[in-house]
Amino acid sequence: MENCIFCKIINKEIPSYPVYEDDVVYAFLDITQTTKGHTLVIPKQHVTDIFEYDETLASELFSRIPKIARAIEQAFPECQGLNIVNNNRELAYQSVFHSHIHLIPRYSKEDDFGLTFNDNSQKYSTEDMTSIAQAIQEKVKNHD
Ligand code: 5GP
Ligand code: ZN
Repeated sequence: MENCIFCKIINKEIPSYPVYEDDVVYAFLDITQTTKGHTLVIPKQHVTDIFEYDETLASELFSRIPKIARAIEQAFPECQGLNIVNNNRELAYQSVFHSHIHLIPRYSKEDDFGLTFNDNSQKYSTEDMTSIAQAIQEKVKNHD
């Protein structure tokens, strides 16, 4: 897609540090290197975010993730863990609107990557939880 920075990276119009490439995906170093080896995996097909994937593209993209994750782990033996992050839409911190999966190797609790999941369980009753799950369940059925 025109004016998409990641399409330009795929087409080598903009340089990048490649990690892996095949007919479906391109993986390259994220310029920010939040931690050493921070990698982006992107589909070669331009899709904006997770809401645009079909099952084939999703399975093709995600099937590549484990081998790239293992490669990062093996390249940096001091790697003690890995966060996989996928931001969708501006509110959720997406800043490049060509879908991408962040692979962020972790070296220590102080390695500059942070992610908090606050515990709000006390705000939800059993009935609330049931009704939230049902609302989603009904919509998932429409996508089978
Ligand atoms: P988002 O915030 O959308 O989840 O992540 C976009 C990521 O793309 C950011 O982590 C940012 O560092 C990375 N990025 C943006 N422009 C470029 C670029 O030109 N080259 C590379 N390698 N990474 C980029
Ligand atoms: Zn694109």
